[in-house]
Amino acid sequence: MSPVLEGQLEPLYAELLRRNPGEEEFHQAAREVLETLGPLLAKRPEFLEAKVIERICEPERQLIFRVPWTDDSGQVHVNRGFRVEFNSALGPFKGGLRFHPSVNLGIVKFLGFEQIFKNALTGMSIGGGKGGSDFDPKGRSANEVMRFCQSFMTELYRHLGEHTDVPAGDIGVGGREIGYLFGQYRRITNRYEAGVLTGKGLGWGGSQVRTEATGYGSVLFIAEMLRVRGEDMDGHRVAVSGSGNVARHAIDKAHQLGATVITCSDSSGYVVDEKGIDLELLHQVKEVERGRVGDYVERRGGAARLVEQGSVWQVPCDVALPAATQNELTESDAVTLVRNGVTAVAEGANMPTTPEAVRVLREAGVAFGPGKAANAGGVATSALEMRQNASRESWSFERAEEQLAQIMRHIHTLCHDTAQRYDRPGDYVAGANIAGFEAVAEAVLAQGVI
Ligand code: NAP
Repeated sequence: MSPVLEGQLEPLYAELLRRNPGEEEFHQAAREVLETLGPLLAKRPEFLEAKVIERICEPERQLIFRVPWTDDSGQVHVNRGFRVEFNSALGPFKGGLRFHPSVNLGIVKFLGFEQIFKNALTGMSIGGGKGGSDFDPKGRSANEVMRFCQSFMTELYRHLGEHTDVPAGDIGVGGREIGYLFGQYRRITNRYEAGVLTGKGLGWGGSQVRTEATGYGSVLFIAEMLRVRGEDMDGHRVAVSGSGNVARHAIDKAHQLGATVITCSDSSGYVVDEKGIDLELLHQVKEVERGRVGDYVERRGGAARLVEQGSVWQVPCDVALPAATQNELTESDAVTLVRNGVTAVAEGANMPTTPEAVRVLREAGVAFGPGKAANAGGVATSALEMRQNASRESWSFERAEEQLAQIMRHIHTLCHDTAQRYDRPGDYVAGANIAGFEAVAEAVLAQGVI
């Protein structure tokens, strides 16, 4: 059950539903932010008077385009491409591209909306946007993926630029796809504009730690939440979902901090490995061979088991880190986690926890880190990549990692202190929403009605 939206926010939300029919994930993301803004708007009524919320909830530009491509047998396929340029009050539109069959406008808008506030929390000069396609890379050859990326960029390039709109990766878009997209952008424009995409390879404009940043950052965020409670990660049992970029690097950082990660998953099931996930093997299976988690279990030699049905959150743990996709941790999962004694949950993925599950966790006193704070390390390191591209520098791994750690500490403190200041102590959801919204709203207000 969701708290009632206060006063003037209720009609504003009703209007958002009317104008964006069928976009459930976008409704969910918008409602979650609006529900927490009451205390800020009481202090800053000018945001309501100047219709700043309405202006932030309406994307500056929404692009939908056809992406035709040919498979290895010569068959023609047609996919749909999206880019939602949501808000550029703080800097160029910035946010990843997702290639997954579930992608539609509502999903891209929820991700773009979240991205506005996440990017604001980093304190860096980046606006919010997101894009992608309903293309399914699973089972496609590298040549097919390349042809798809080239076709996608052949339309999208005209909307991009290092000062305009700077995409990166997300589900289904990793280093390989960024390479194909960058190659086609360079070819069409005849420009080596390194800052137009982030997540590039280290030899051609990429930043150290960008690949690791989202997963590393989300574990650093958990470590900060535990620190203020007088605890640390050492010796904790951690459950992680997913086995992609974010999940694998979260596992890596959790192990570095002395915890044991006992689960991972993909859309075929989840793995329980009581000895701790073997990261090298997982990387080989998922990244190099693009296989399934069942292959991991087969090669782990009896140390791990595969569960094909049910939820990874059934596995008892102290810390939970959902790192696969939206709405993957439900109310009943949260009840199970609480019953099993979980103390901290942080969203490595975007909006993986349903609103009902968040409520269960919060009411049980579990430290809960929302995605727009906990997984902001990825986009923050993308901004560091843009900074290095602009100055033609390449930082060492240590320097980039130290910057990431500083940024995650800053985001944690900002959310923690904002929640405290607005009489919501320990509520990182309210802290993140209020701090992120206020930064964007100030800029929107200052820049006039545009
Ligand atoms: P990824 O490398 O493509 O991995 C995605 C993982 O999630 C895979 O294990 C995938 O399993 C699983 N998954 C995806 N959709 C699923 C579904 N519907 N049901 C069950 N499992 C599913 O993607 P990623 O970059 O790690 O992104 C994971 C999450 O983190 C997303 O929510 C993304 O928006 C968020 N995020 C990513 C970044 C970043 O820097 N990459 C930054 C901030 C937030 P299969 O292989 O079976 O599909």
